[in-house]
Amino acid sequence: MEKIKIDKIVRSNRKTVGLIVTQDATLVVRAPVFTPVEHIERLVSKKSPWIRRKIAEVLKRPKPITKEFVDGEGFLYLGKFYELHIVDDASLMIRLRDDRLDISKNVLPHARQVIAQWYKEEALRIIRERCVWYAKITGYKPISVKITNAQKRWGSCGPRGTLNFSWRLIMAPVEVIDYLIVHELVHIGQPDHSKLFWAKVKSILPDYKKREKWLKQNGGLLTLMRS
Ligand SMILES: [Zn+2]
Repeated sequence: MEKIKIDKIVRSNRKTVGLIVTQDATLVVRAPVFTPVEHIERLVSKKSPWIRRKIAEVLKRPKPITKEFVDGEGFLYLGKFYELHIVDDASLMIRLRDDRLDISKNVLPHARQVIAQWYKEEALRIIRERCVWYAKITGYKPISVKITNAQKRWGSCGPRGTLNFSWRLIMAPVEVIDYLIVHELVHIGQPDHSKLFWAKVKSILPDYKKREKWLKQNGGLLTLMRS
């Protein structure tokens, strides 16, 4: 079988060698400063079945397509596709109605900004609402909940419980949004990803792994642009 190509070796003060297959299916090796290249190559060859499996998995994921903002194009909202309808109505900018997303002809030149802004407002409304609910269930109360433009990071928990969520999450099913909310809320009490952390997440969402997997597999679709 063909030798696996190492795309990048990142050296740092870490103690062990780590192999990462990135979102664009490249192999990155993280290694201690003085680890010989031969050692890394031996490890990569030993782990090649795992690496090949990971690369195949990444390549199989659905690829996002850049939006064109034309009639009938699908836009994700809470995990469901809504068809874009360009309407001749000056009193309206954008509106979700039944199974369609209406956008006024007048704002079409700025469709990307208008839709992104609408996603942000919806994300803030729905995520804040659900944070209140899950704060009661988890017992962790955030001091603030904000929406960010983050491309890669779905959520984060800052010091003292300032929670941030990417507006792109609003395109995901509500179960996936809830998982992210619970994940960040639990970080208020448990900043690391320890066993205790995951046990707490599981006690609230027993099927959290399924939700996490959905995000890993489909996260690339939650965008208005090709990444
Ligand atoms: Zn985390």
